[in-house]
Amino acid sequence: MQLKDPTLFRQAALIGGEWHEARGEGIAVTDPATGGVIGHVPKLGAAETRAAIAAAEVAQKGWAARTAKERGAILRRWYELMMANQDDLGRILTLEQGKPLAEAKGEIAYGASFIEWFAEEGRRVYGDIVPGHQPDKRILVMKQPIGVVAAITPWNFPNAMITRKAGPALASGCAMVLKPAAQTPFSAIALAVLAERAGLPKGLFSVVTGSAREIGAEMTANPVVRKLTFTGSTEVGAELYRQSAPTIKKLGLELGGNAPFIVFDDADLDAAVEGAIIAKFRNNGQTCVCANRLYVQEGVYEAFAEKLAGAVAKLKTGNGFQEGVTLGPLIDAAALAKVEEHVADATGKGARVVEGGKRHALGGTFFEATVIADVTAEMAMAREETFGPVAPLFRFRDEADVIRQANDTEFGLASYFYAKDLARVFRVAEALEYGMVGVNTGLISTAEAPFGGMKSSGLGREGSRYGIEEFTEIKYVCLGGI
Ligand code: ADP
Repeated sequence: MQLKDPTLFRQAALIGGEWHEARGEGIAVTDPATGGVIGHVPKLGAAETRAAIAAAEVAQKGWAARTAKERGAILRRWYELMMANQDDLGRILTLEQGKPLAEAKGEIAYGASFIEWFAEEGRRVYGDIVPGHQPDKRILVMKQPIGVVAAITPWNFPNAMITRKAGPALASGCAMVLKPAAQTPFSAIALAVLAERAGLPKGLFSVVTGSAREIGAEMTANPVVRKLTFTGSTEVGAELYRQSAPTIKKLGLELGGNAPFIVFDDADLDAAVEGAIIAKFRNNGQTCVCANRLYVQEGVYEAFAEKLAGAVAKLKTGNGFQEGVTLGPLIDAAALAKVEEHVADATGKGARVVEGGKRHALGGTFFEATVIADVTAEMAMAREETFGPVAPLFRFRDEADVIRQANDTEFGLASYFYAKDLARVFRVAEALEYGMVGVNTGLISTAEAPFGGMKSSGLGREGSRYGIEEFTEIKYVCLGGI
């Protein structure tokens, strides 16, 4: 891999401001497009996690004592360094994650935008002065940083899932100990290199690589950690929730989704197809807000299926470094097996493949961009996230029917619908039991908006002004004797 700045690719973990080099041992990281080993990161555990937490505790006190403006200036430098190195960071990301280079660079800009947003937002963590309940008393409400934060992040957005947590945590005056996904640690490490360069004090941001179980156990059991923020599966999220119970930690959980994408018969079909391509096939279908179930009203069902299949046929699968490629490989063999099982389950129960439908001729973990029609509630795709490039089309009669089907899931993260009738837009937006609703758009994530889910999709919100409050404690001061 050619980098303009090779020092950004570092095979080391950062514990309390000290680098721990892998020296060719530890955990091997592979390129999902080729299966080749790209490097190693140290296999660390409970002891190093504890050391990182102890260093964070010390560093956090001094950091919180600075003004929000000073903290913001350092974060702003971090943002600028990310943008100045967008190309290299994108390359590292494509190498370990597989997404096309243009999309990887897009993620760097998106990830950096959270650091930029929160560098500014840190100065607006306002409190309140509330009218007192007695003549000689005044009520003050202040918001203070929660303290040491532990973060565990997934492989599908190796950059942005970190910055969306680190931005608000650091801006509000917290310290962070991060465990990145084992598949994609190099993007996290490059971020730490740039954080150091931006002048972030030692110990404030550690990156611990190694055993998920051991690191997670220490992060959840250690009483110094006051908040755990996690993005990943509902299953692991529930386990971390349980492990955090004895120390009553605050939790931020961004978990699985099962997003419905609804096309009403008054929708602009071309716009709906464009939105579906973005919502379904971005990151090769491997995002928690990816459309997982496409509901199309009877009257436009065949027309939509045909248009969508036409657009999907134009997508190009391949190595993310190759020019013109729009879909990369799946992250690993287990992901490929799940996609294959979902397709087999659907076709076995009567669904019809309109486009794609099998492993790609490229081999490895590549799967064809796929459209499947006549999918029903009895099929696995209706209940579980496929997390791959498969668009299943369900049929519906009317509004009440589709609302019932769309809400018939334990998940409640993102949802999308296309319609023109204004009254219907309001009715449907209000009826969907989801934390996020995209109306006539397939792209909803941005630093300015609150991202998060209802039901088994999680707790709390990331991004926006709500995102920084998640990293603060409210303190009430009662001033008497006035
Ligand atoms: P995904 O399905 O997106 O891979 P996971 O929930 O399996 O999501 O993993 C998300 C993150 O959680 C990864 O960093 C992974 O290493 C970590 N993780 C998995 N199991 C545990 C665990 N038992 N304790 C702590 N972290 C874990």
